Amino acid sequence: MGKSSKDKRDLYYRKAKEQGYRARSAFKLLQLNDEFHFLDDPNLKRVVDLCAAPGSWSQVLSRKLFQDKHTAADRKIVAVDLQSMSPIDHVTTLQADITHPRTLARILQLFGDQKADFVCSDGAPDVTGLHDLDEYVQQQLIMSALQLATCILKPGGTFVAKIFRGRDIDMLYSQMGYLFERVTCAKPRSSRGTSLEAFIVCQQYNPPSGWQPRLDVGQSVQEFFQGCFRGSDTAAEVGPWNDVPRDIAPFMACGSLDSFDSDATYHTQELQDLPHRSLDPVQQPTNPPYKHALELKRKGKLTRAV
Ligand code: SAM
Repeated sequence: MGKSSKDKRDLYYRKAKEQGYRARSAFKLLQLNDEFHFLDDPNLKRVVDLCAAPGSWSQVLSRKLFQDKHTAADRKIVAVDLQSMSPIDHVTTLQADITHPRTLARILQLFGDQKADFVCSDGAPDVTGLHDLDEYVQQQLIMSALQLATCILKPGGTFVAKIFRGRDIDMLYSQMGYLFERVTCAKPRSSRGTSLEAFIVCQQYNPPSGWQPRLDVGQSVQEFFQGCFRGSDTAAEVGPWNDVPRDIAPFMACGSLDSFDSDATYHTQELQDLPHRSLDPVQQPTNPPYKHALELKRKGKLTRAV
């Protein structure tokens, strides 16, 4: 988040800076919570933020869970990302890969081997521009987040994850439906209407009885979900991947109609009756690639690729 002209155009970008959030995505989680109230539960104790950098969701979690000193005592938030993150109050950060089984063990260790009440994931892999490959990698990342969530969530827990409403999304809804009582596809107003991005809100974790999720290196998604039954008293095993029935999840638009439209351009002067003043970034990048480039330039070693 830089000191740029986006300030003038994207209201959520501007508002994030004004309110001290590191990224505009904070408003996506806030608007989802306005609808589903998953962060308002006084019994929420252990929370995991997957793919958390630069950390605006963790900031929301920290502000929500630690606003009341009486309920804050035994609460814990763990944020995981491949990138390093600058510290956030009340948040333990882990630089790790969510697709690796060791990450699960590290989170459980931080929770003293107790299960989590809430897991969220706003994961997005680096895009290559090859549409099919990007869609596949994104799908794999969602499945990794789901696998980790099933191993760490306690019964009744909630899982919220970013999804892209692509070709096979109905299959994902039905897979989630095996594990959670309620599955909703939600679109906050701060998420651009022109983007396929949405969020899957899975409530009341209730895995089939007898199914023990276990993460192993080299295990495929199919192997992981082997033996995951449709209902506790039926034997309809999830069969070959292509035979999985496809469901439609209810769709929910989040954020009131008077909240800002993320596809629109607003003029902050008109809204606030003030001359426009560009705001500084909330958090400087921890280890940006340009730092290395500047070092090379200083030493006269920066060469242009031919
Ligand atoms: N929710 C964050 C916030 O509010 O600041 C923004 C998350 S950003 C859109 C997506 C993040 O996913 C990136 O920081 C990226 O490093 C992370 N990511 C992608 N693949 C990952 C993986 N396998 N393990 C951990 N993090 C991953």
